[in-house]
Amino acid sequence: MSGTVGMPASTSTVWHPRDASEACRLKKRFGSGAVYTAGGTLLRTQWEAGQRPEPAHLIDLSGIPEMRGIRTEGGELAIGALTTLAVCRRDPYLQARFPLLAEAARAIAAPSIRNLATIGGNILSAVGDSLPVFLVYKARLIWREGEAERAEDAEDWLERGGEETEASVRLLLQIRLPLDDSPEKAGRTFGFYGKIGRREAFVPSLVTTALTGRIAPDGQLRGVRLAAGDGKTVPRRFPLTESRLEGAAADDGAVRLLHRLLLEQYKPAPDPFATAEYRKLTAANLAASHLWQAIRENAGRGEG
Ligand SMILES: Cc1cc2nc3c(=O)[nH]c(=O)nc-3n(C[C@H](O)[C@H](O)[C@H](O)COP(=O)(O)OP(=O)(O)OC[C@H]3O[C@@H](n4cnc5c(N)ncnc54)[C@H](O)[C@@H]3O)c2cc1C
Repeated sequence: MSGTVGMPASTSTVWHPRDASEACRLKKRFGSGAVYTAGGTLLRTQWEAGQRPEPAHLIDLSGIPEMRGIRTEGGELAIGALTTLAVCRRDPYLQARFPLLAEAARAIAAPSIRNLATIGGNILSAVGDSLPVFLVYKARLIWREGEAERAEDAEDWLERGGEETEASVRLLLQIRLPLDDSPEKAGRTFGFYGKIGRREAFVPSLVTTALTGRIAPDGQLRGVRLAAGDGKTVPRRFPLTESRLEGAAADDGAVRLLHRLLLEQYKPAPDPFATAEYRKLTAANLAASHLWQAIRENAGRGEG
């Protein structure tokens, strides 16, 4: 461990742990006076905007190799929390197996930020644009708490508000996504990711949605998973909508049903730029257009 004083334009003492265990020990030692930093892109914006003070101690995670990279482990894809958004966007295996995650990474900020920003930092913001994708992909978060490791469903963490307290010692090590290697399910699977912002880049999203599912050979919807959130609203799934769509005929009626239920169930937070009503309607329109596209593509395949 080494303590050096000051990053450019910073008064914090910066620590460079070599492994996760050392990082946790440092956090325990300095408590709420210390903050983990990965790419530092979100933290810097928060300091500059006066949303949080610069801490006395910064624990720089960037030198911990075990927290980086993408690999398969025991039927899951394990993504190190320090993996940058640029790598998530480009990784060929991730693109092939979890295309919505690659798409989400492409929709966040701009290349210069994506080269620094990590997927773990995006999750820890609790409103990051990757989160709806992790919800539909059934992600598990692997935490380091002192010397112990603990797994937690991303959905459970988000349901509790998704925020770590300043004093929390735990470190996000990995995100794990189940690889479904069961024999090809009959029918056509679909997946869509959508993000609407006030501008295309560099602003928090007004709405971010992810939708996955399958149209069975009998024309019924199966296993639909839907999640929505935005730069102000912690993302969530919509179990009632999903269960009402299970076994429904894949037609205009299902699209209308999804639209109506999402209008009823989504409760976004307003901000000075967009009302809750606007965000809600946009989310319903976006998700319904995804489903409509899936149904259309399926019908097109049948005719072809
Ligand atoms: C210009 C600009 C545009 C942006 N656009 C978008 C956008 O379109 N969509 C979007 O979602 N975000 C956006 N962001 C926010 C941010 O860049 C991303 O959320 C990014 O992924 C954060 O990652 P980071 O590694 O930089 O996090 P950091 O800033 O290093 O950390 C963020 C938070 O996570 C904690 N943390 C980081 N890693 C860990 C870990 N492994 N374990 C425990 N705690 C950890 C830190 O303590 C901190 O509280 C933007 C930021 C900027 C500056």
